[in-house]
Amino acid sequence: MTKVPVRPEMEGFKPYSPGLSIDEIKKRYGLSRVIKMASNENPLGTSPVVQARLASASPLAFRYAQAGSPALSEAIGAHLGVPASCVVAGNGSDEIIDLLLRVVARPGIDNVVAFRPCFSIYDVQSRLCGLEFRQTDLNADFSFPFDALLSLTDENTALVFVTNPDNPSGYACRADELVALAAKLPPRALLVVDEAYVDFAEPLDEFTMLPHFGKIPNLVILRTFSKMYGLAGLRLGYGVMPEWLADLLLRVKLPFSVNILAEQAGLAALEDDIFLSETLRVVREGRELLTRELTAMGCTVRPSQANFLMFDPPMDARTLFEGLLQRGVIIRPLASYGMPGKLRVSIGNEDENREFLVKTAEVLRDNHRHS
Ligand SMILES: *Cc1c(COP(=O)(O)O)cnc(C)c1O
Repeated sequence: MTKVPVRPEMEGFKPYSPGLSIDEIKKRYGLSRVIKMASNENPLGTSPVVQARLASASPLAFRYAQAGSPALSEAIGAHLGVPASCVVAGNGSDEIIDLLLRVVARPGIDNVVAFRPCFSIYDVQSRLCGLEFRQTDLNADFSFPFDALLSLTDENTALVFVTNPDNPSGYACRADELVALAAKLPPRALLVVDEAYVDFAEPLDEFTMLPHFGKIPNLVILRTFSKMYGLAGLRLGYGVMPEWLADLLLRVKLPFSVNILAEQAGLAALEDDIFLSETLRVVREGRELLTRELTAMGCTVRPSQANFLMFDPPMDARTLFEGLLQRGVIIRPLASYGMPGKLRVSIGNEDENREFLVKTAEVLRDNHRHS
């Protein structure tokens, strides 16, 4: 069949540019060992407690999950101290972002506001929904210019997205600043604070918006099991939002988008305190080590409250990225974020961090010799 007319919004989309996979790189360079520090996954892998729960729940794979995952909403609500009726679990927080846009914003009328650069899902899903996507540049130091953000909003602003801590910079603002922003938004605009990385911020209380939930009527908080909880491949995230909005999302969400194993894994992960504290320790120590060592090699490293670091190497970033690939280390170039001179590396486990540092030093040395 030849191409048929499709929605005009489809004009101009490019495929999502993900981190490269280990198998791809093994094959391309004939390597037997490749490490991936590109997608901010958990450096400790999948928790043994969750693996055991997945194994014991696997006979249930033939069943449909309970529509809307009420048991998980209960558990998350209890864990966070918010009503279960305000929690919507999804197939990653990506699904919640998509649902918010489709439920709240009116195609052809409304607009969505965010910083530039930002997480590409906000932009892609907004445009697919026929919404105008407005952006203002981050400050030069990657802090948030809230006045510029506010000046983009008007009576047709449906959603304002802020990622805190931010990806890819790792910068985080204090929750107080977002409380002030929420109060200044036009009355119908929802403030969506994407806290995918907030678990890694310290001290947590000063960064998360959770203590303010319930006091701010237009606040939505997004969280995910993909990073701190080590479940990126199972797809599980959630939003905490006013009850009326949660109710609307649940009416149109695909009923089984959170599958029965993801739900069990999430329930187990919430109680897995040892894995969580060990993850925090490894990420905080790794973040310090990589910051110190990269700086000593002449890189400019941004302070980070997340499980990754953004840095400017003292050589062409693309060449360093490719030199690392050839040596079996995958990190993330930031050209697709509009920052061709910068790279992002996810904090790995102790072995991965050491290997990344050794190989980076090698590429920098080779480059120095040849220039
Ligand atoms: C990783 C990430 C998420 C989480 O996405 P999931 O769909 O839950 O895996 C959300 N927002 C940002 C900014 C991220 O980097």
